[in-house]
Amino acid sequence: MAPTILWFRRDLRLHDHPALTAAAARGSVIPVFIHDDSVASLGAAPRWRMGEGLRVFGEALEAAGSRLILRRGPAREVLEELVAETGAEAVYWSRLYDPQAIERDSRVKAALKERGLEARSFPGHLIFEPWEVETQQGGMYKVYSPYWRAVKDREVAEVLSAPDLTAPGTWPESERLDDWAMGKAMRRGASVVAEHSAPGEASARAKLAAFSAHRMEDYKARRDFPAEEATSEMSEYLTYGEISPRQLWHSALRGAAEGKAGAEHFRKEVVWREFAYHLMYHTPRLLDANWREDWDGFAWRDDRRLAEVRAWEQGRTGMAFVDAALREMYVTGRMHNRARMVVASYLTKHLMVHWRIGQAWFEECLTDWDPASNAMGWQWVAGSGPDAAPYFRVFNPETQLEKFDPDGTYRRRWIAEGQARPTKTALSYFEAVPESWGLSPDMAYPEPVVGLSEGRERALAAYESFKQEQG
Ligand code: FAD
Repeated sequence: MAPTILWFRRDLRLHDHPALTAAAARGSVIPVFIHDDSVASLGAAPRWRMGEGLRVFGEALEAAGSRLILRRGPAREVLEELVAETGAEAVYWSRLYDPQAIERDSRVKAALKERGLEARSFPGHLIFEPWEVETQQGGMYKVYSPYWRAVKDREVAEVLSAPDLTAPGTWPESERLDDWAMGKAMRRGASVVAEHSAPGEASARAKLAAFSAHRMEDYKARRDFPAEEATSEMSEYLTYGEISPRQLWHSALRGAAEGKAGAEHFRKEVVWREFAYHLMYHTPRLLDANWREDWDGFAWRDDRRLAEVRAWEQGRTGMAFVDAALREMYVTGRMHNRARMVVASYLTKHLMVHWRIGQAWFEECLTDWDPASNAMGWQWVAGSGPDAAPYFRVFNPETQLEKFDPDGTYRRRWIAEGQARPTKTALSYFEAVPESWGLSPDMAYPEPVVGLSEGRERALAAYESFKQEQG
């Protein structure tokens, strides 16, 4: 049987991989990753993290008697070249759901089929295909709770084991990962973030097992405290497909059967990701425009050059929770969920800055950057999204810090200024940021860029007049 090309994208795993299982059942498999525009346009941290994931995945394939072939260029051209070089008769891949990927993949599929090849896409990035969940009237869900009720009792197929891989008679040439310089845009941040990242499927599976054994029980009660290690930390692995969401679902079901109190809540959170994809697939404008179109008339400050935006990006707003969170993101590539809500509320409400500016900064800095979850998260906080928090619900970063960081651990972990003996993590921020920012831990901690009540009142007044204009 002629080989099958497995075009890997955001599915860098061997277990629970329907496309890989189907390809392996057909005969020999040629695993391929293509550096195309979708990779070139990634933000600095996601691109670096993708490179790390590829390195580890290549090693895992070698250990399984296979290889990862790397090629650069437009996907269709690269695949056609590979087909010509290898005599492959089929190309398989796991589906993606953002509009650019859908458009590219449809063109690739049509071109390959025209050449008489078998071109097939498979599920795996999600538990539920976005078109498989419909309201009783046959439409999309716009509110999370009914979406959850629609899926929570569904049968979800068991996880697939890793297939045995057969190598082709000859391997095509591969480019060298180092030549792609995936971490280039990180400048000196890469080595700092690397200390907080353990890429790859084996790490993902070990972390999920540890979460299930030690954290799932108290997940609901502890998940909101940013200083605690209480959540699964699965988002980064899901982003690159180093674990499948179906493995999380089944882990939660097992946890529930064992009587773990937090298991159901964990499954609900996993379903938030599904919901984000459902929204993005049915209404792609979620990604770059106010989901509620009437919000186009809101008086957002839409200018990244504003001094307050720079202070926010650099974790120098003078609001400890906001600054700690933005520094956490710069150093680790991740940010606690509660902190994400607080920094997003502060930017879009106290500073009245357009959510797209914050969304873009997250896209640059998050190693778990996910188009759907990021856009939904920002629009949810800003008030412009479906099922969003109302704009007048303004998080107070001071009371949030008192409530969720009562002993100041999170603050000390990330803010060095003003401390007699700053923590190692707080100091590492200054090692990670570009020198051109001119920051040092010896500087005074900044005064607030806006008074909390002043910012809040300005936002609420703008919201009132916006509502009046809407009639
Ligand atoms: P856990 O609490 O252990 O949850 C398990 C999994 O459930 C997560 O890995 C994630 O896949 C999913 N999940 C949990 N909460 C959410 C949520 N609110 N929305 C969607 N899925 C969720 N998540 C990303 O993966 N990538 C992003 O780019 C991203 N941007 C965000 C931006 C904003 C403004 C906000 C408010 C939230 C964003 N989130 C994003 C969602 C959430 O903050 C992270 O998924 C979560 O913090 C990841 O940590 P964890 O894996 O330990 O989560």
